[in-house]
Amino acid sequence: MRNKIVAGNWKMNLSFEQALQLANDLNEYVAHHPSTAQVVIAPTSIYLQAIQETVDNDYITVAAQDVAAAEKGAYTGDVSAEQLDSIGINCAIVGHSERRAYQHESDAIIAQKLEQLFAKEITPIFCIGEKLEEREADKHFEVVKSQVLNALQPQKVENLTKVVIAYEPVWAIGTGKTASPEQAQEIHAYIRSVLKDAFGEDLANGTSILYGGSVNAGNAEELFAQPDIDGGLVGGASLKVEDFSKIIAAIK
Ligand code: PEP
Repeated sequence: MRNKIVAGNWKMNLSFEQALQLANDLNEYVAHHPSTAQVVIAPTSIYLQAIQETVDNDYITVAAQDVAAAEKGAYTGDVSAEQLDSIGINCAIVGHSERRAYQHESDAIIAQKLEQLFAKEITPIFCIGEKLEEREADKHFEVVKSQVLNALQPQKVENLTKVVIAYEPVWAIGTGKTASPEQAQEIHAYIRSVLKDAFGEDLANGTSILYGGSVNAGNAEELFAQPDIDGGLVGGASLKVEDFSKIIAAIK
């Protein structure tokens, strides 16, 4: 279903104490300011269980930042979908550009990760987006199309309705540069057209597509007002309750 979603990716930030404090503050905010958006936070994996127990899951969904491509076994340092499921985690970011860049994750690996998540009914926030040189070479449409199709075409059709897509141009992540609302709308509409051509109109119209890349309290409202933008995936500005709460409030 096409929900409005505001998700905070905490990445490798915050001490345990700081993370608990932020989760508590956010819980307090959301409890007193009901939002039409689903609010999601993604702390580092070792905090997941404690944060999950801290927040009210009716208000806040706690997500993993990644998942293993394999089901189980000798994969030191990885966390499996089954392990996430066993502590009640039902959402996970997958294919983030930082993992594509630093862990060299290919579309094929991301497709396997999606499969693992679907097997445990964990909702993926599946990230796509072009690099600066690809945008400058006017290749952004073909890049996002191949990222979407390479990861989603191998999936069972019945699982596709569970996917949330996050379009995050790599040149806008953590750089303070944001796609203009017009640029973001243009490519979100294009991503929806790719979904329509490959999987049909119902899926295209029912898929939430989030924008990510230097979303902040000042630019969120205009971005979220675009017809094909269903919310945001937020990095830096999700680390302070004052900023993240304004971004949540920007969803109408
Ligand atoms: C992200 O990493 O998903 C992200 C969007 O980061 P930032 O908001 O800091 O650009």
